[in-house]
Amino acid sequence: MSANRASEATAAAGGPQAAGGGTGDGDRAAADTYDVIVLGGGPTGENLADRVHAAGLSAVLVEHELVGGECSYWACMPSKALLRPVTARSEARRVPGLKDAAAGPLDAPAVLAHRDAFASYWKDDGQVRWLDSAGIDLVRGRGRLVGPRRVAVDGGRTLLARHAVAVCTGSRPVLPDVPGLAEAGPWTSRDATSAKSVPGRLVIVGGGVVGVEMATAWRALGAAVTLLVRGDGLLPRMEPFAGQLVAESLAEAGVTLRTGVEVREVRREAPGRPLTVHLDTGDALIADELLIATGRAPRTEDLGLETVGLTPGGWLDVDETLRVTGVPGGWLYGAGDVNHRALLTHQGKYQARIAGAAIAARARGVPILETDRWGAHSASADRHAVPQVVFSDPEAAAVGLSAAEAERAGYRIRVVDHDLGAVAGASLYADGYRGRARMVVDLDREVLLGATFVGPGVGELLHSATVAVAGEVPIERLWHAVPAYPTISEIWLRLLETYRGD
Ligand SMILES: Cc1cc2nc3c(=O)[nH]c(=O)nc-3n(C[C@H](O)[C@H](O)[C@H](O)COP(=O)(O)OP(=O)(O)OC[C@H]3O[C@@H](n4cnc5c(N)ncnc54)[C@H](O)[C@@H]3O)c2cc1C
Repeated sequence: MSANRASEATAAAGGPQAAGGGTGDGDRAAADTYDVIVLGGGPTGENLADRVHAAGLSAVLVEHELVGGECSYWACMPSKALLRPVTARSEARRVPGLKDAAAGPLDAPAVLAHRDAFASYWKDDGQVRWLDSAGIDLVRGRGRLVGPRRVAVDGGRTLLARHAVAVCTGSRPVLPDVPGLAEAGPWTSRDATSAKSVPGRLVIVGGGVVGVEMATAWRALGAAVTLLVRGDGLLPRMEPFAGQLVAESLAEAGVTLRTGVEVREVRREAPGRPLTVHLDTGDALIADELLIATGRAPRTEDLGLETVGLTPGGWLDVDETLRVTGVPGGWLYGAGDVNHRALLTHQGKYQARIAGAAIAARARGVPILETDRWGAHSASADRHAVPQVVFSDPEAAAVGLSAAEAERAGYRIRVVDHDLGAVAGASLYADGYRGRARMVVDLDREVLLGATFVGPGVGELLHSATVAVAGEVPIERLWHAVPAYPTISEIWLRLLETYRGD
Protein backbone atom coordinates (compact mmCIF):
# COMPACT_ATOMS: atom_id res chain seq x y z
CA MET A 1 0.00 0.00 0.00
CA SER A 2 2.99 2.33 0.34
CA ALA A 3 2.96 3.10 -3.37
CA ASN A 4 -0.69 3.95 -3.15
CA ARG A 5 -0.04 6.35 -0.32
CA ALA A 6 2.62 7.96 -2.49
CA SER A 7 0.08 8.64 -5.22
CA GLU A 8 -2.38 10.07 -2.68
CA ALA A 9 0.36 12.30 -1.33
CA THR A 10 1.08 13.41 -4.88
CA ALA A 11 -2.54 14.33 -5.43
CA ALA A 12 -2.65 16.20 -2.12
CA ALA A 13 0.47 18.14 -3.09
CA GLY A 14 -1.22 19.01 -6.37
CA GLY A 15 1.63 17.83 -8.58
CA PRO A 16 3.13 14.71 -10.05
CA GLN A 17 5.63 12.55 -8.23
CA ALA A 18 8.96 12.36 -10.02
CA ALA A 19 9.66 8.88 -11.33
CA GLY A 20 11.95 7.24 -8.82
CA GLY A 21 14.66 4.64 -9.18
CA GLY A 22 13.87 0.98 -9.65
CA THR A 23 11.94 1.43 -12.87
CA GLY A 24 14.99 0.40 -14.81
CA ASP A 25 14.38 2.64 -17.81
CA GLY A 26 16.38 5.56 -16.53
CA ASP A 27 13.80 8.12 -17.63
CA ARG A 28 14.14 11.35 -15.69
CA ALA A 29 10.95 13.07 -16.91
CA ALA A 30 8.33 13.84 -14.30
CA ALA A 31 5.63 11.18 -14.10
CA ASP A 32 3.03 9.90 -11.63
CA THR A 33 4.22 6.52 -10.48
CA TYR A 34 1.94 3.60 -9.66
CA ASP A 35 2.56 -0.09 -9.24
CA VAL A 36 0.06 -0.88 -11.99
CA ILE A 37 -1.43 1.22 -14.79
CA VAL A 38 -4.64 -0.09 -16.34
CA LEU A 39 -5.56 1.23 -19.77
CA GLY A 40 -9.33 1.07 -20.30
CA GLY A 41 -12.03 1.17 -17.64
CA GLY A 42 -14.44 -1.48 -18.95
CA PRO A 43 -15.41 -4.50 -16.85
CA THR A 44 -11.97 -6.05 -17.38
CA GLY A 45 -9.96 -2.97 -16.49
CA GLU A 46 -12.07 -2.19 -13.43
CA ASN A 47 -11.70 -5.73 -12.10
CA LEU A 48 -8.00 -5.91 -12.83
CA ALA A 49 -7.38 -2.63 -10.99
CA ASP A 50 -9.48 -3.90 -8.09
CA ARG A 51 -7.58 -7.20 -7.89
CA VAL A 52 -4.12 -5.65 -7.82
CA HIS A 53 -5.26 -3.02 -5.36
CA ALA A 54 -6.74 -5.73 -3.11
CA ALA A 55 -3.35 -7.45 -3.28
CA GLY A 56 -1.69 -4.32 -1.84
CA LEU A 57 -0.46 -2.62 -5.03
CA SER A 58 -1.35 0.89 -6.13
CA ALA A 59 -3.40 1.15 -9.30
CA VAL A 60 -4.54 3.84 -11.68
CA LEU A 61 -7.22 3.43 -14.32
CA VAL A 62 -7.06 5.45 -17.55
CA GLU A 63 -10.41 5.82 -19.34
CA HIS A 64 -11.19 8.10 -22.26
CA GLU A 65 -14.94 7.57 -22.44
CA LEU A 66 -17.20 6.15 -19.69
CA VAL A 67 -15.99 4.07 -16.74
CA GLY A 68 -17.84 0.76 -17.14
CA GLY A 69 -16.94 0.34 -20.81
CA GLU A 70 -18.92 -1.08 -23.69
CA CYS A 71 -20.71 -3.64 -21.51
CA SER A 72 -22.41 -1.12 -19.23
CA TYR A 73 -23.62 1.38 -21.81
CA TRP A 74 -23.73 -0.17 -25.32
CA ALA A 75 -23.64 -3.95 -24.94
CA CYS A 76 -24.63 -6.38 -22.14
CA MET A 77 -26.72 -4.16 -19.90
CA PRO A 78 -28.83 -2.22 -22.41
CA SER A 79 -29.30 -5.25 -24.68
CA LYS A 80 -30.46 -7.47 -21.83
CA ALA A 81 -32.75 -4.69 -20.55
CA LEU A 82 -34.35 -4.64 -24.03
CA LEU A 83 -34.63 -8.44 -24.14
CA ARG A 84 -35.95 -9.30 -20.68
CA PRO A 85 -39.46 -7.89 -21.34
CA VAL A 86 -39.51 -9.83 -24.64
CA THR A 87 -38.79 -13.23 -23.06
CA ALA A 88 -40.96 -12.53 -20.00
CA ARG A 89 -43.95 -11.74 -22.25
CA SER A 90 -43.30 -14.74 -24.43
CA GLU A 91 -43.17 -17.09 -21.42
CA ALA A 92 -46.23 -15.50 -19.81
CA ARG A 93 -48.15 -16.12 -23.03
CA ARG A 94 -47.48 -19.83 -22.54
CA VAL A 95 -48.67 -19.99 -18.93
CA PRO A 96 -52.38 -20.74 -18.35
CA GLY A 97 -54.07 -17.86 -16.55
CA LEU A 98 -51.64 -15.28 -17.97
CA LYS A 99 -52.11 -15.80 -21.69
CA ASP A 100 -54.74 -13.12 -22.12
CA ALA A 101 -53.02 -10.65 -19.83
CA ALA A 102 -49.80 -10.93 -21.88
CA ALA A 103 -51.47 -10.99 -25.30
CA GLY A 104 -50.95 -7.33 -26.19
CA PRO A 105 -47.91 -5.61 -27.71
CA LEU A 106 -44.96 -4.53 -25.60
CA ASP A 107 -45.10 -0.98 -24.27
CA ALA A 108 -42.10 0.19 -26.33
CA PRO A 109 -41.58 3.56 -24.58
CA ALA A 110 -41.58 1.77 -21.20
CA VAL A 111 -39.07 -0.82 -22.43
CA LEU A 112 -36.80 1.90 -23.83
CA ALA A 113 -37.04 3.83 -20.56
CA HIS A 114 -36.14 0.64 -18.65
CA ARG A 115 -33.14 0.23 -21.00
CA ASP A 116 -32.08 3.85 -20.38
CA ALA A 117 -32.10 3.22 -16.63
CA PHE A 118 -30.00 0.04 -17.01
CA ALA A 119 -27.50 2.01 -19.12
CA SER A 120 -27.34 4.50 -16.20
CA TYR A 121 -28.49 7.18 -18.68
CA TRP A 122 -24.99 6.91 -20.19
CA LYS A 123 -23.40 8.50 -17.13
CA ASP A 124 -20.67 6.85 -15.12
CA ASP A 125 -21.01 8.62 -11.74
CA GLY A 126 -21.92 5.34 -10.00
CA GLN A 127 -18.88 3.50 -11.32
CA VAL A 128 -16.60 6.43 -10.49
CA ARG A 129 -17.94 6.42 -6.92
CA TRP A 130 -17.13 2.69 -6.75
CA LEU A 131 -13.56 3.32 -7.98
CA ASP A 132 -13.19 6.00 -5.33
CA SER A 133 -14.46 3.71 -2.59
CA ALA A 134 -12.12 0.96 -3.78
CA GLY A 135 -9.12 3.29 -3.57
CA ILE A 136 -8.32 3.23 -7.30
CA ASP A 137 -7.24 6.47 -8.97
CA LEU A 138 -8.92 7.50 -12.22
CA VAL A 139 -7.28 9.52 -14.97
CA ARG A 140 -9.64 10.67 -17.71
CA GLY A 141 -8.26 10.75 -21.24
CA ARG A 142 -6.86 8.55 -23.99
CA GLY A 143 -3.76 6.67 -22.86
CA ARG A 144 -0.86 5.69 -25.12
CA LEU A 145 2.31 3.77 -24.39
CA VAL A 146 5.38 5.95 -24.88
CA GLY A 147 8.02 3.36 -24.04
CA PRO A 148 8.45 0.60 -21.49
CA ARG A 149 6.05 1.01 -18.52
CA ARG A 150 5.32 4.59 -19.49
CA VAL A 151 1.88 5.90 -20.51
CA ALA A 152 1.05 9.37 -21.79
CA VAL A 153 -2.53 10.54 -21.34
CA ASP A 154 -4.25 13.22 -23.45
CA GLY A 155 -3.74 16.51 -21.75
CA GLY A 156 -0.05 16.01 -21.05
CA ARG A 157 0.01 13.78 -17.99
CA THR A 158 2.55 10.95 -17.94
CA LEU A 159 2.24 7.83 -15.80
CA LEU A 160 4.92 5.32 -14.93
CA ALA A 161 4.35 1.76 -13.75
CA ARG A 162 6.65 0.04 -11.28
CA HIS A 163 5.37 -3.43 -12.07
CA ALA A 164 2.86 -3.65 -14.91
CA VAL A 165 0.76 -1.94 -17.54
CA ALA A 166 -2.45 -3.81 -18.38
CA VAL A 167 -4.12 -3.10 -21.71
CA CYS A 168 -7.89 -3.60 -21.30
CA THR A 169 -9.07 -1.41 -24.16
CA GLY A 170 -11.67 -3.83 -25.53
CA SER A 171 -12.97 -4.09 -29.07
CA ARG A 172 -15.05 -2.09 -31.52
CA PRO A 173 -17.47 -3.05 -34.27
CA VAL A 174 -16.07 -3.34 -37.80
CA LEU A 175 -17.86 -2.28 -40.95
CA PRO A 176 -17.26 -4.52 -43.96
CA ASP A 177 -15.86 -2.91 -47.08
CA VAL A 178 -19.14 -2.49 -48.97
CA PRO A 179 -19.63 0.42 -51.39
CA GLY A 180 -21.77 3.19 -49.89
CA LEU A 181 -22.03 1.50 -46.47
CA ALA A 182 -20.02 3.94 -44.34
CA GLU A 183 -21.64 6.96 -46.04
CA ALA A 184 -25.12 5.55 -45.39
CA GLY A 185 -24.61 5.83 -41.62
CA PRO A 186 -25.47 2.28 -40.59
CA TRP A 187 -26.20 1.24 -37.03
CA THR A 188 -23.47 -0.56 -35.13
CA SER A 189 -24.08 -2.42 -31.87
CA ARG A 190 -23.87 0.94 -30.10
CA ASP A 191 -26.83 2.37 -32.02
CA ALA A 192 -28.80 -0.87 -31.77
CA THR A 193 -28.54 -0.84 -27.97
CA SER A 194 -29.12 2.90 -27.46
CA ALA A 195 -31.66 3.93 -30.16
CA LYS A 196 -34.32 6.26 -28.82
CA SER A 197 -37.19 5.03 -31.02
CA VAL A 198 -38.26 1.89 -32.86
CA PRO A 199 -37.40 1.95 -36.58
CA GLY A 200 -40.19 0.99 -38.97
CA ARG A 201 -38.01 -1.33 -41.07
CA LEU A 202 -34.73 -2.69 -39.75
CA VAL A 203 -32.33 -4.79 -41.82
CA ILE A 204 -29.71 -6.63 -39.78
CA VAL A 205 -26.57 -8.11 -41.33
CA GLY A 206 -24.99 -10.94 -39.33
CA GLY A 207 -26.38 -14.10 -37.75
CA GLY A 208 -24.13 -14.22 -34.68
CA VAL A 209 -25.12 -13.33 -31.13
CA VAL A 210 -25.55 -9.57 -31.66
CA GLY A 211 -27.59 -10.01 -34.86
CA VAL A 212 -29.87 -12.62 -33.28
CA GLU A 213 -30.40 -10.75 -30.00
CA MET A 214 -31.12 -7.44 -31.72
CA ALA A 215 -33.51 -9.10 -34.21
CA THR A 216 -35.36 -10.60 -31.23
CA ALA A 217 -35.57 -7.30 -29.37
CA TRP A 218 -36.47 -4.89 -32.17
CA ARG A 219 -38.99 -7.25 -33.77
CA ALA A 220 -40.81 -7.58 -30.43
CA LEU A 221 -40.73 -3.80 -30.06
CA GLY A 222 -42.57 -3.44 -33.36
CA ALA A 223 -39.97 -3.13 -36.14
CA ALA A 224 -40.29 -5.12 -39.38
CA VAL A 225 -36.97 -7.00 -39.23
CA THR A 226 -35.05 -8.72 -42.02
CA LEU A 227 -32.00 -10.72 -40.91
CA LEU A 228 -29.37 -11.28 -43.60
CA VAL A 229 -26.84 -14.07 -43.09
CA ARG A 230 -23.93 -14.97 -45.35
CA GLY A 231 -23.75 -18.60 -44.16
CA ASP A 232 -26.49 -21.17 -43.98
CA GLY A 233 -27.72 -20.61 -40.43
CA LEU A 234 -27.67 -18.65 -37.20
CA LEU A 235 -25.26 -18.83 -34.24
CA PRO A 236 -22.57 -20.69 -36.19
CA ARG A 237 -20.29 -21.11 -33.16
CA MET A 238 -22.86 -23.21 -31.30
CA GLU A 239 -24.28 -26.69 -31.91
CA PRO A 240 -26.31 -26.52 -35.16
CA PHE A 241 -29.62 -27.21 -33.38
CA ALA A 242 -29.26 -23.95 -31.42
CA GLY A 243 -29.36 -21.83 -34.57
CA GLN A 244 -32.16 -23.96 -36.03
CA LEU A 245 -34.48 -23.61 -33.01
CA VAL A 246 -33.79 -19.89 -32.71
CA ALA A 247 -34.37 -19.39 -36.46
CA GLU A 248 -37.75 -21.18 -36.26
CA SER A 249 -38.80 -19.01 -33.39
CA LEU A 250 -37.65 -15.78 -35.06
CA ALA A 251 -39.66 -16.74 -38.15
CA GLU A 252 -42.75 -17.34 -35.96
CA ALA A 253 -42.20 -13.89 -34.45
CA GLY A 254 -42.30 -12.41 -37.96
CA VAL A 255 -38.59 -11.90 -38.69
CA THR A 256 -37.65 -12.49 -42.32
CA LEU A 257 -34.49 -14.60 -42.34
CA ARG A 258 -32.43 -14.79 -45.52
CA THR A 259 -29.43 -17.10 -45.53
CA GLY A 260 -26.63 -17.37 -48.10
CA VAL A 261 -26.84 -13.69 -49.08
CA GLU A 262 -24.32 -10.88 -49.12
CA VAL A 263 -24.73 -7.12 -49.26
CA ARG A 264 -23.19 -5.65 -52.42
CA GLU A 265 -23.98 -1.96 -52.05
CA VAL A 266 -25.85 0.43 -49.76
CA ARG A 267 -27.33 3.82 -50.64
CA ARG A 268 -29.03 6.49 -48.54
CA GLU A 269 -30.07 9.55 -50.51
CA ALA A 270 -29.99 11.91 -47.52
CA PRO A 271 -29.74 11.66 -43.73
CA GLY A 272 -33.07 10.63 -42.23
CA ARG A 273 -34.25 9.11 -45.53
CA PRO A 274 -34.68 5.34 -46.02
CA LEU A 275 -31.75 3.36 -47.36
CA THR A 276 -31.53 0.77 -50.09
CA VAL A 277 -29.61 -2.43 -49.44
CA HIS A 278 -28.53 -4.15 -52.68
CA LEU A 279 -27.92 -7.89 -52.38
CA ASP A 280 -25.77 -10.27 -54.41
CA THR A 281 -28.97 -12.06 -55.42
CA GLY A 282 -29.87 -9.03 -57.54
CA ASP A 283 -32.77 -7.77 -55.41
CA ALA A 284 -32.77 -4.86 -53.00
CA LEU A 285 -34.35 -4.09 -49.62
CA ILE A 286 -35.62 -0.72 -48.42
CA ALA A 287 -35.02 -0.03 -44.75
CA ASP A 288 -35.16 2.80 -42.25
CA GLU A 289 -32.07 1.52 -40.44
CA LEU A 290 -29.37 -1.02 -41.24
CA LEU A 291 -27.54 -2.77 -38.38
CA ILE A 292 -24.14 -4.22 -39.20
CA ALA A 293 -23.27 -6.99 -36.75
CA THR A 294 -20.54 -8.83 -38.61
CA GLY A 295 -17.60 -8.80 -36.24
CA ARG A 296 -15.26 -6.85 -34.03
CA ALA A 297 -11.71 -5.48 -34.11
CA PRO A 298 -9.33 -4.79 -31.21
CA ARG A 299 -8.90 -1.27 -29.93
CA THR A 300 -5.11 -1.33 -30.30
CA GLU A 301 -4.49 0.91 -33.30
CA ASP A 302 -3.61 4.08 -31.38
CA LEU A 303 -2.03 2.66 -28.25
CA GLY A 304 1.65 3.32 -28.96
CA LEU A 305 2.39 -0.41 -29.19
CA GLU A 306 5.13 0.36 -31.70
CA THR A 307 7.05 2.18 -28.92
CA VAL A 308 7.54 -1.17 -27.15
CA GLY A 309 8.30 -3.22 -30.26
CA LEU A 310 4.79 -4.50 -31.06
CA THR A 311 2.71 -4.06 -34.18
CA PRO A 312 -0.30 -1.79 -33.66
CA GLY A 313 -3.82 -2.71 -34.72
CA GLY A 314 -3.92 -6.45 -34.00
CA TRP A 315 -5.32 -8.59 -31.22
CA LEU A 316 -2.81 -8.89 -28.36
CA ASP A 317 -1.07 -12.23 -28.17
CA VAL A 318 -0.85 -13.28 -24.50
CA ASP A 319 0.33 -16.26 -22.46
CA GLU A 320 -1.79 -18.12 -19.91
CA THR A 321 -1.11 -15.43 -17.26
CA LEU A 322 -2.40 -12.81 -19.76
CA ARG A 323 1.11 -11.37 -20.21
CA VAL A 324 1.72 -10.02 -23.72
CA THR A 325 4.29 -12.16 -25.50
CA GLY A 326 7.45 -10.70 -27.02
CA VAL A 327 7.87 -7.74 -24.64
CA PRO A 328 11.26 -7.69 -22.87
CA GLY A 329 10.88 -7.47 -19.09
CA GLY A 330 7.40 -9.00 -19.18
CA TRP A 331 5.62 -5.93 -17.75
CA LEU A 332 2.80 -5.67 -20.35
CA TYR A 333 -0.50 -7.54 -19.92
CA GLY A 334 -3.56 -7.71 -22.18
CA ALA A 335 -6.91 -8.83 -20.79
CA GLY A 336 -10.52 -8.86 -21.99
CA ASP A 337 -11.75 -8.52 -25.56
CA VAL A 338 -8.41 -7.06 -26.66
CA ASN A 339 -6.69 -10.49 -26.60
CA HIS A 340 -9.50 -12.24 -28.54
CA ARG A 341 -9.55 -15.30 -26.24
CA ALA A 342 -13.27 -14.95 -25.50
CA LEU A 343 -15.21 -11.76 -26.24
CA LEU A 344 -17.44 -11.88 -23.18
CA THR A 345 -17.67 -9.73 -20.08
CA HIS A 346 -17.50 -12.63 -17.63
CA GLN A 347 -14.36 -14.01 -19.32
CA GLY A 348 -12.77 -10.53 -19.25
CA LYS A 349 -13.50 -10.32 -15.54
CA TYR A 350 -12.10 -13.83 -15.04
CA GLN A 351 -8.93 -12.86 -16.95
CA ALA A 352 -8.73 -9.76 -14.76
CA ARG A 353 -8.73 -11.98 -11.65
CA ILE A 354 -6.03 -14.25 -13.10
CA ALA A 355 -3.85 -11.41 -14.43
CA GLY A 356 -4.28 -9.48 -11.18
CA ALA A 357 -3.07 -12.49 -9.19
CA ALA A 358 -0.13 -13.02 -11.57
CA ILE A 359 0.93 -9.37 -11.44
CA ALA A 360 0.76 -9.35 -7.64
CA ALA A 361 2.68 -12.63 -7.38
CA ARG A 362 5.43 -11.42 -9.72
CA ALA A 363 5.64 -8.12 -7.82
CA ARG A 364 6.26 -10.12 -4.63
CA GLY A 365 8.73 -12.44 -6.35
CA VAL A 366 6.46 -15.46 -5.91
CA PRO A 367 7.08 -18.14 -8.58
CA ILE A 368 4.39 -18.52 -11.22
CA LEU A 369 3.32 -21.87 -12.58
CA GLU A 370 1.61 -20.61 -15.68
CA THR A 371 1.37 -24.00 -17.31
CA ASP A 372 -0.38 -25.34 -14.22
CA ARG A 373 -3.83 -26.02 -15.75
CA TRP A 374 -6.56 -24.67 -13.45
CA GLY A 375 -3.86 -23.03 -11.28
CA ALA A 376 -4.25 -19.59 -9.69
CA HIS A 377 -2.25 -17.86 -12.44
CA SER A 378 -3.53 -19.63 -15.55
CA ALA A 379 -6.66 -18.57 -17.43
CA SER A 380 -7.50 -22.21 -18.20
CA ALA A 381 -11.25 -21.66 -18.42
CA ASP A 382 -10.68 -19.60 -21.59
CA ARG A 383 -9.59 -22.81 -23.31
CA HIS A 384 -11.82 -25.41 -21.70
CA ALA A 385 -14.95 -23.95 -20.14
CA VAL A 386 -16.23 -20.68 -21.61
CA PRO A 387 -19.96 -20.27 -20.86
CA GLN A 388 -22.18 -18.17 -23.11
CA VAL A 389 -25.87 -17.36 -23.07
CA VAL A 390 -27.65 -15.97 -26.11
CA PHE A 391 -30.65 -14.10 -24.70
CA SER A 392 -32.88 -14.87 -27.66
CA ASP A 393 -36.34 -16.40 -27.41
CA PRO A 394 -35.75 -19.27 -26.75
CA GLU A 395 -32.42 -18.81 -25.01
CA ALA A 396 -29.39 -20.74 -26.19
CA ALA A 397 -26.72 -21.55 -23.62
CA ALA A 398 -23.47 -23.42 -24.10
CA VAL A 399 -20.22 -24.15 -22.28
CA GLY A 400 -16.99 -25.85 -23.35
CA LEU A 401 -16.63 -27.61 -26.67
CA SER A 402 -19.33 -28.34 -29.24
CA ALA A 403 -19.24 -31.80 -30.79
CA ALA A 404 -17.54 -30.42 -33.92
CA GLU A 405 -14.93 -28.54 -31.89
CA ALA A 406 -14.20 -31.61 -29.76
CA GLU A 407 -13.73 -33.74 -32.87
CA ARG A 408 -11.46 -31.13 -34.44
CA ALA A 409 -9.41 -31.14 -31.23
CA GLY A 410 -8.93 -34.90 -31.57
CA TYR A 411 -11.05 -36.13 -28.64
CA ARG A 412 -12.80 -39.51 -28.78
CA ILE A 413 -16.31 -38.38 -27.96
CA ARG A 414 -19.87 -39.48 -27.48
CA VAL A 415 -22.71 -37.05 -28.09
CA VAL A 416 -25.88 -37.42 -26.00
CA ASP A 417 -29.00 -35.48 -27.02
CA HIS A 418 -32.35 -35.14 -25.30
CA ASP A 419 -35.64 -33.34 -25.81
CA LEU A 420 -35.73 -30.64 -23.15
CA GLY A 421 -39.51 -30.32 -23.43
CA ALA A 422 -39.86 -33.91 -22.17
CA VAL A 423 -38.94 -33.17 -18.54
CA ALA A 424 -41.71 -32.34 -16.08
CA GLY A 425 -40.14 -29.06 -14.99
CA ALA A 426 -40.11 -27.80 -18.58
CA SER A 427 -43.76 -28.62 -19.23
CA LEU A 428 -44.68 -26.77 -16.03
CA TYR A 429 -42.47 -23.83 -17.03
CA ALA A 430 -44.41 -23.16 -20.23
CA ASP A 431 -47.13 -24.85 -22.27
CA GLY A 432 -45.69 -26.47 -25.37
CA TYR A 433 -42.11 -25.97 -24.11
CA ARG A 434 -39.74 -26.60 -27.00
CA GLY A 435 -36.06 -27.18 -26.40
CA ARG A 436 -33.13 -29.49 -26.72
CA ALA A 437 -30.04 -30.44 -24.73
CA ARG A 438 -26.73 -32.01 -25.66
CA MET A 439 -23.73 -33.14 -23.71
CA VAL A 440 -20.39 -34.01 -25.27
CA VAL A 441 -18.49 -36.67 -23.33
CA ASP A 442 -14.75 -37.38 -23.50
CA LEU A 443 -14.82 -41.20 -23.71
CA ASP A 444 -11.24 -41.61 -22.52
CA ARG A 445 -11.68 -39.70 -19.25
CA GLU A 446 -15.49 -40.05 -18.94
CA VAL A 447 -15.93 -36.33 -18.22
CA LEU A 448 -17.94 -33.64 -19.97
CA LEU A 449 -16.20 -31.55 -22.62
CA GLY A 450 -19.22 -29.40 -23.31
CA ALA A 451 -22.96 -28.94 -22.97
CA THR A 452 -25.61 -26.98 -24.86
CA PHE A 453 -29.18 -26.17 -23.87
CA VAL A 454 -31.78 -24.40 -25.99
CA GLY A 455 -35.16 -23.47 -24.54
CA PRO A 456 -36.94 -20.88 -22.42
CA GLY A 457 -35.07 -20.12 -19.20
CA VAL A 458 -32.00 -22.25 -19.92
CA GLY A 459 -29.56 -19.41 -19.19
CA GLU A 460 -29.93 -20.20 -15.50
CA LEU A 461 -29.27 -23.90 -16.17
CA LEU A 462 -25.88 -23.23 -17.69
CA HIS A 463 -23.81 -22.82 -14.56
CA SER A 464 -24.46 -26.43 -13.51
CA ALA A 465 -22.83 -27.51 -16.77
CA THR A 466 -19.98 -25.03 -16.31
CA VAL A 467 -19.22 -26.55 -12.90
CA ALA A 468 -19.24 -30.04 -14.43
CA VAL A 469 -16.94 -29.05 -17.32
CA ALA A 470 -14.48 -26.89 -15.34
CA GLY A 471 -14.48 -29.38 -12.46
CA GLU A 472 -13.96 -32.32 -14.85
CA VAL A 473 -16.53 -34.12 -12.72
CA PRO A 474 -16.60 -37.82 -13.61
CA ILE A 475 -19.87 -38.90 -15.23
CA GLU A 476 -20.31 -41.51 -12.49
CA ARG A 477 -20.20 -38.77 -9.84
CA LEU A 478 -22.66 -36.59 -11.78
CA TRP A 479 -25.12 -39.44 -11.27
CA HIS A 480 -25.10 -38.46 -7.57
CA ALA A 481 -25.79 -34.76 -8.29
CA VAL A 482 -29.55 -34.96 -7.86
CA PRO A 483 -31.61 -32.28 -9.63
CA ALA A 484 -34.64 -30.99 -7.72
CA TYR A 485 -38.07 -32.12 -8.89
CA PRO A 486 -39.82 -30.69 -10.86
CA THR A 487 -37.19 -28.37 -12.39
CA ILE A 488 -35.81 -28.10 -15.92
CA SER A 489 -32.52 -29.31 -14.40
CA GLU A 490 -33.92 -32.85 -14.45
CA ILE A 491 -32.63 -32.84 -18.02
CA TRP A 492 -29.34 -33.90 -16.40
CA LEU A 493 -30.94 -37.20 -15.33
CA ARG A 494 -32.27 -37.87 -18.80
CA LEU A 495 -28.89 -37.14 -20.41
CA LEU A 496 -27.05 -39.35 -17.92
CA GLU A 497 -29.57 -42.19 -18.26
CA THR A 498 -29.18 -42.06 -22.03
CA TYR A 499 -25.40 -42.12 -21.70
CA ARG A 500 -25.48 -45.11 -19.32
CA GLY A 501 -28.00 -46.90 -21.51
CA ASP A 502 -30.54 -47.12 -18.63
C1 LIG B 1 -24.49 -5.78 -28.30
C2 LIG B 1 -23.57 -6.55 -27.41
C3 LIG B 1 -24.08 -7.30 -26.39
C4 LIG B 1 -23.25 -8.01 -25.55
N1 LIG B 1 -23.80 -8.76 -24.54
C5 LIG B 1 -23.01 -9.46 -23.71
C6 LIG B 1 -23.57 -10.23 -22.65
O1 LIG B 1 -24.77 -10.30 -22.48
N2 LIG B 1 -22.72 -10.90 -21.84
C7 LIG B 1 -21.37 -10.86 -22.02
O2 LIG B 1 -20.65 -11.51 -21.26
N3 LIG B 1 -20.80 -10.14 -23.02
C8 LIG B 1 -21.59 -9.43 -23.86
N4 LIG B 1 -21.03 -8.68 -24.85
C9 LIG B 1 -19.55 -8.59 -24.94
C10 LIG B 1 -19.02 -7.56 -23.90
O3 LIG B 1 -19.62 -6.32 -24.11
C11 LIG B 1 -17.51 -7.44 -24.02
O4 LIG B 1 -16.93 -8.72 -23.99
C12 LIG B 1 -16.95 -6.60 -22.86
O5 LIG B 1 -17.48 -5.29 -22.87
C13 LIG B 1 -15.43 -6.55 -22.94
O6 LIG B 1 -14.95 -5.86 -21.82
P1 LIG B 1 -13.53 -5.13 -21.88
O7 LIG B 1 -13.36 -4.51 -20.54
O8 LIG B 1 -12.51 -6.06 -22.38
O9 LIG B 1 -13.70 -3.99 -22.99
P2 LIG B 1 -14.72 -2.77 -23.10
O10 LIG B 1 -15.98 -3.03 -22.39
O11 LIG B 1 -14.80 -2.47 -24.56
O12 LIG B 1 -14.00 -1.60 -22.35
C14 LIG B 1 -12.81 -1.04 -22.85
C15 LIG B 1 -12.68 0.37 -22.33
O13 LIG B 1 -11.41 0.89 -22.71
C16 LIG B 1 -11.56 2.25 -23.06
N5 LIG B 1 -10.42 2.61 -23.91
C17 LIG B 1 -10.11 2.11 -25.13
N6 LIG B 1 -8.96 2.62 -25.57
C18 LIG B 1 -8.52 3.46 -24.60
C19 LIG B 1 -7.38 4.29 -24.46
N7 LIG B 1 -6.42 4.32 -25.40
N8 LIG B 1 -7.25 5.03 -23.33
C20 LIG B 1 -8.21 4.99 -22.36
N9 LIG B 1 -9.31 4.23 -22.44
C21 LIG B 1 -9.46 3.46 -23.55
C22 LIG B 1 -12.90 2.29 -23.75
O14 LIG B 1 -13.43 3.61 -23.75
C23 LIG B 1 -13.71 1.33 -22.90
O15 LIG B 1 -14.36 2.00 -21.84
C24 LIG B 1 -21.85 -7.97 -25.74
C25 LIG B 1 -21.30 -7.22 -26.78
C26 LIG B 1 -22.15 -6.52 -27.62
C27 LIG B 1 -21.55 -5.69 -28.72
